[in-house]
Amino acid sequence: MSSFFAKLNGPWHERALQTFMIIVLAHWAEHLAQAYQVYVLAWPPHRAGGVLGQMFPWLVHSEVLHYGYALIMLAGIWTFLPGFVGRSRTWWLVALVIQFWHHIEHALLQSQVIAGRTLFGAPVPTSILQLWFPRLELHLFYNTVVFVPMMVAMYYHLFPSAPEAAEMRCSCALRAHPATS
Ligand SMILES: [Zn+2]
Repeated sequence: MSSFFAKLNGPWHERALQTFMIIVLAHWAEHLAQAYQVYVLAWPPHRAGGVLGQMFPWLVHSEVLHYGYALIMLAGIWTFLPGFVGRSRTWWLVALVIQFWHHIEHALLQSQVIAGRTLFGAPVPTSILQLWFPRLELHLFYNTVVFVPMMVAMYYHLFPSAPEAAEMRCSCALRAHPATS
C-alpha cells in the first residue's frame, strides 16, 4: 500500500492528477451551469440541475451522491498531497482544510437523511452555514474556495522554482528541472 501511494505521488502523479482535475473541473462546470440556469435563465432552483441534472434529475436531489462526491474530493486532495512541495504544497493544504469542512457539512446533510430528521427544526436537511446562506450559493461558494487554492497549487506544481523542482518526485513540471538538466 505504501508503495502504491509512493507511485501515485511519484511516477503516476501526473496522470492521476490529470484524471482527478478533469473530475473536479466537470463538477465545477455543473455548479456554474446550475447558477446560470437560476440567475440568467431564471429557472426555479429546484428545476435547475446543471447539465447532467437535466437528464438525470435524481442526481441533483440525491444527498448520497453529493456526499460521495465531497468524500472523493477529500480523499483525492489528501492522496495527492505528498507529491506537492514548496508553495504548491501550502496551497494544496489550504484546499484540503476547506474541503474537510465542506465534507463535514455534507456528512451532516447525509446523516439527517439517514436519521429521517433535520437539524435546527428545518423542513429540509440543513448544513450549518446554510442557516445563513441559501444552499445553491453556499455550494457554489464552497466549490469556488476549494477550486481556487487547487488551481494556485497546480500552477506552482507545473511551474516550480529550481529548489522546488529539485524536491519533486513526479513528472508534472512543465519546465525542465534545472537540477537534473
Ligand atoms: Zn506531480
